[in-house]
Amino acid sequence: MLLIHGGEAVADAPELRTGGVPLVPEGFVWPMCRECGGAMLFFAHLPLAFGVVSVFLCQNNPGMCDDWDATSGANRAFLFDGPLGAATVPAEGETLLGAVTALRPHPADVPTTEPVLGALGGGPGWIQGDETPDCPSCATRMTFTADLEEGADFATSANFGGGGRGYVFHCLPCRVAAFLWQR
Ligand SMILES: [Zn+2]
Ligand SMILES: [Zn+2]
Repeated sequence: MLLIHGGEAVADAPELRTGGVPLVPEGFVWPMCRECGGAMLFFAHLPLAFGVVSVFLCQNNPGMCDDWDATSGANRAFLFDGPLGAATVPAEGETLLGAVTALRPHPADVPTTEPVLGALGGGPGWIQGDETPDCPSCATRMTFTADLEEGADFATSANFGGGGRGYVFHCLPCRVAAFLWQR
């Protein structure tokens, strides 16, 4: 299933989107970059059948932190269970994208004129080689969740090195998720 540009969404929309405010469980602590110490940027909210995947990466010093690496500590992905509410956004740092964009599921075999912003399920569309991460908890190979492009509009996109692609994985038994990007 492709994820195509679904227009603007409200900041706390409980739908598939990039940007806006993350919906998080009680007691959530906003992730900080292990490399620069800054607050991460919230990138994507992905409500799926098995939970909500929430993706963050460091964009405080583009090109300086290893936010492309699933294990560097410069990005974070979570697998949440409900109930969820809008997070309190830290006052400092590059924390939010400039636009909230709905991601609309669209059958891959049906043509569309909307920008394709990602894909759900299937397999990862690797730009480089296979970098499927191992689960940090049980060490088994993680399950592919979604591909996510940087965004449709350069001014409000995430930065995956310019034309890169993000990859989201999860481990259902451990309730964890991971993120990396390639270009
Ligand atoms: Zn950083
Ligand atoms: Zn696991």
